[in-house]
Amino acid sequence: MSILDRFFNGDKLALAKIISHIENRGDELSRLLPALYSKSGDAYRIGMTGPPGVGKSTLVDKLAELYVVDSQKVPTHLGIGIIAVDPSSPFTGGALLGDRIRMQNLTKYDDIFIRSMATRGSSGGLAASTSDVAMAMDAFGKDIILIETVGVGQVELDIADSCDTTVVVLVPESGDSVQALKAGLMEIADIFVVNKSDRDGADYFALDINMALDTKRNNSEWNYPVVNTQAINDVGIDELKDAIAGHRKFLTSEENADLYRRQKIKTDLNRILDMELKAYISEYLLTQNNLDNYIDSVLNGENNPYEITKEIIQSLNQDKS
Ligand code: GDP
Repeated sequence: MSILDRFFNGDKLALAKIISHIENRGDELSRLLPALYSKSGDAYRIGMTGPPGVGKSTLVDKLAELYVVDSQKVPTHLGIGIIAVDPSSPFTGGALLGDRIRMQNLTKYDDIFIRSMATRGSSGGLAASTSDVAMAMDAFGKDIILIETVGVGQVELDIADSCDTTVVVLVPESGDSVQALKAGLMEIADIFVVNKSDRDGADYFALDINMALDTKRNNSEWNYPVVNTQAINDVGIDELKDAIAGHRKFLTSEENADLYRRQKIKTDLNRILDMELKAYISEYLLTQNNLDNYIDSVLNGENNPYEITKEIIQSLNQDKS
């Protein structure tokens, strides 16, 4: 049986293998990814981001557990995928340790599939690979995909872009909330979580965020909720789940659904085009040899990077004809 047959038969090992192919960006992807894409599109992607140590992993685990347990009360069980992205870790080995620790808590749930992703190649590649992994989980039949990222670097912003709902997690001791919001979190968040609200100052901190959200709320139909949670004490997880459901309802409302679907395709198209074009250019047009020649020509004062870029784009056009 081919790997795709096994995958579509629900073989988790085939899913794991396909994810490894995605991480390694092998040639077989050009055949695998379109096949997966045609079976994807139903899963809901939730991005969870925030500074290290605020409780994202704990929160993601509790949320995943809640989705599974709640859905066991109804005939259609939900399948959950978790992707933990750590752009700072150069080794997947490090990430795998995280997997093992988490597995101890979630291992009893057959419906939860966890995968960690660490830096491989360029950071742009990591965000793109994360999207493809989410797409693979979606095609495998997962209904909810939780994507956990650290901080607010470009990778996180790109990942947030490909998520349906982005949750930004902060803690009371994050200090000046405005500071945190300035760091770019304000732009990407659909929902704010104040975790560790068992600690002093949580209500005041939430109030602070609420105030900072005034302008944003005035300019949008969405109300950007702020949810207080205590992930370790199972407090506020239901409320967070409701807030996510509310955002999903908002995106898929009659008014927004068309734009939402189009936006998703646009994001995919931009991402794939960006990645493929870069790969094509570095493979055929800007090989190491060419690159050295181009650099020499700039050093000699014969050329400049703008003209070189034009030349490369022109040769793309010639390839077309
Ligand atoms: P991450 O780095 O954002 O993924 O954070 P973790 O989920 O690894 O949590 C970091 C630490 O905070 C762990 O020791 C957790 O047990 C603890 N923690 C998580 N949630 C809470 C909470 O609601 N209250 C308190 N006091 N500690 C928490």
